[in-house]
Amino acid sequence: MSVDRYARHLALAGFGAAEQARLRAATALVIGAGGLGSPALLYLAAAGIGELVVSDFDTVDVTNLQRQVLFTVADVGRPKAEAAAGHLRELNPDTTVTPVGSRLLDAELLAAVRQADVVLDCTDNFGTRFALNQACVQARKPLVSGAAIRYEGQLAVFRLDRPGGPCYRCLWQEEAEELESCRGNGVLGPVPGVIGSLMAVEALKIASGCAPSADGKLVLYDAVENDWRQLKLERDPACPACGAEQ
Ligand SMILES: [Zn+2]
Repeated sequence: MSVDRYARHLALAGFGAAEQARLRAATALVIGAGGLGSPALLYLAAAGIGELVVSDFDTVDVTNLQRQVLFTVADVGRPKAEAAAGHLRELNPDTTVTPVGSRLLDAELLAAVRQADVVLDCTDNFGTRFALNQACVQARKPLVSGAAIRYEGQLAVFRLDRPGGPCYRCLWQEEAEELESCRGNGVLGPVPGVIGSLMAVEALKIASGCAPSADGKLVLYDAVENDWRQLKLERDPACPACGAEQ
């Protein structure tokens, strides 16, 4: 590991060689290499995380390039996981990048979550979000969750590795509340960039232990008004995902 590469981390109060080494030994599972996953993956690789497991079963489309800054024109038509892995390896050869080009389900998803130190939900549908949350509850892994649409973004951290806190499903109960997609609604390009960057901040703090994570709250960003709000999250004792676990 090059000390020079991480000199601006090592100059930070609270971030020494031990924190950088902890980061180097850590694995992040990133589900979704799109508008949120692009900045999250770029920052995690640049920061020197040990391993990134990148799961995305989609291919790069020309409409992705307006916000998915991990990809270039030459990637259009290529599988996202593989294209992402190529760019991330070029950015930092210290980081092992494992692309997963199929949809992780059930036992495979749980196994991938178990191998991770932190999980980032960069997806855009409730079905995958609930399944990923359930796997993180079961495996007791910290989950960093982000979303962005139109001019709005949101971020939440669920420390499911610790007892007593809420999970994603405590917050969102009904699968009927279909998560709206960027396809029909549009999204201002940098909005997922803002949220994906915040996801990287939280994941880096969890993986390195350099600062406490911002868990137990939902952060809402309104890009029209440049307005930030925070809501405190409470665990729902009747939650179908974590109610029986804690
Ligand atoms: Zn819950």
